Amino acid sequence: MFKTKYVEKVYTDLVAKNKNETEFLQAALEILESLEPYVQKHPELEQKKLLERFLEPERFVQFKVVWTDDKGEFQVNRGYRVQYNSAIGPYKGGIRFHPSVNASIIKFLGLEQTLKNSLTSLPMGGGKGGSDFDPKGKSDTEIMRFCQSFMTELYRHIGPDTDVPAGDIGVGAREVAYMFGQYKRIKNEFTGVLTGKGLSFGGSLARKEATGYGLCYFTNEALKTLLNTDFNGKTVVVSGSGNVAIYANQKATQLGGKVVAMSDSNGYVYDPNGIDLDVIKQIKEVERGRISEYANRVKGAEYHEGSKNIWNVKCDIALPCATQNELDLDAAKTLVKNGVIAVCEGANMPSTLEAAKYFVENKVVFGPAKAANAGGVATSGLEMTQNSNRLSWSFEEVDAKLQGIMVNIFKNAHAKAVEQGNKFDLITGANIAGFEKVCDAMLAQGI
Ligand code: NDP
Repeated sequence: MFKTKYVEKVYTDLVAKNKNETEFLQAALEILESLEPYVQKHPELEQKKLLERFLEPERFVQFKVVWTDDKGEFQVNRGYRVQYNSAIGPYKGGIRFHPSVNASIIKFLGLEQTLKNSLTSLPMGGGKGGSDFDPKGKSDTEIMRFCQSFMTELYRHIGPDTDVPAGDIGVGAREVAYMFGQYKRIKNEFTGVLTGKGLSFGGSLARKEATGYGLCYFTNEALKTLLNTDFNGKTVVVSGSGNVAIYANQKATQLGGKVVAMSDSNGYVYDPNGIDLDVIKQIKEVERGRISEYANRVKGAEYHEGSKNIWNVKCDIALPCATQNELDLDAAKTLVKNGVIAVCEGANMPSTLEAAKYFVENKVVFGPAKAANAGGVATSGLEMTQNSNRLSWSFEEVDAKLQGIMVNIFKNAHAKAVEQGNKFDLITGANIAGFEKVCDAMLAQGI
């Protein structure tokens, strides 16, 4: 697996210490494999135990969240915040509410976030948080009470110069607003302690669209550089139908692509005429319903059970935007057999290690999450700047900055990939480009 004894030992020790944390170990393995050539060139990293220090979170908080449902019954959930690395700025990363959330998932997300934030070139360290709370089927007042209880513990660990959370799966504008309100109430302070806020209280224009738009800016730049083509006239499949997926669909369509399939955790819809995004937005954003409803409302559309089957739909460009490990080796083989030319990750770690390697081996333009979906956190960084300066920029201004950042991320990852001898290996490229800055800062700051 590894050529270097040092890297092998780091990984073996990590496995021994974190035995059951499969997602965390998966993310760490991918990063360590990519960093090996860099580590070989920099023997001081071993002397100073840099990899061990990088992989160990600075702080990991677990807490209980007790709240009452609409029937007045007590409910208990588990909350988490990992403050992974603050070498280059305050901890920054989203909060996820989903029943699958556990320590392993929070740690994998925090580790990835550290490199992603570094890639944006903005001064943000890595963090992540969440709860095993399931927002599905909960009333608005239950969501509010849960968010307030969650923040009643979290507030003591965060702050605008310490740790700035945002949204993720199950946490959108509504949840961020309830958490922000509770923080303000407890601290008697109006600060930019969360990003993804509503526009009337310090949110940034284009933050809602940023991850999906950024993903398409990255993909377009990669297509131009590596294959001398772009979105125009391409058939696109986008998994998921949440925040990232919806705005990835919107931008892919604006750039001339045709999105023919989208999904949720139950199944996917196929619409040969191109998905009508207004219908998806009505179902998912307004009604908070199931995607199967799309086929009842749009003529010619089909619904199929099983979200993973979305990868059987023939397409030129695939944008996985739902969740981790949603695209495995079998799916990767099907996509390649069907002629896919680009797979760029809107979700975090949606491709298994084997699937990601298969894409790179087959010269598919593969945009790893930490590079391709960094537009959301980059725009959160821009929201922090606007909050600190007490001003707000226009949509066009933010969007232009986002576009510049995404093009730069691609260029930096691509340059490192070329340096390592394979221009299609943006996994290695992104990991080295992100790590270099964090590593320099850690070395400079001593222990
Ligand atoms: P949302 O909650 O808005 O949407 C999540 C979507 O993924 C829904 O369609 C959901 O379906 C689907 N989904 C969730 N879990 C599963 C599962 N186990 N299997 C299949 N589908 C599932 O989240 P976001 O759009 O914000 O996040 C999506 C991904 O993008 C995540 O990996 C997140 O970490 C990543 N990301 C998000 C950023 C952001 O700015 N929001 C920034 C960078 C990355 P259902 O409705 O059935 O639950």
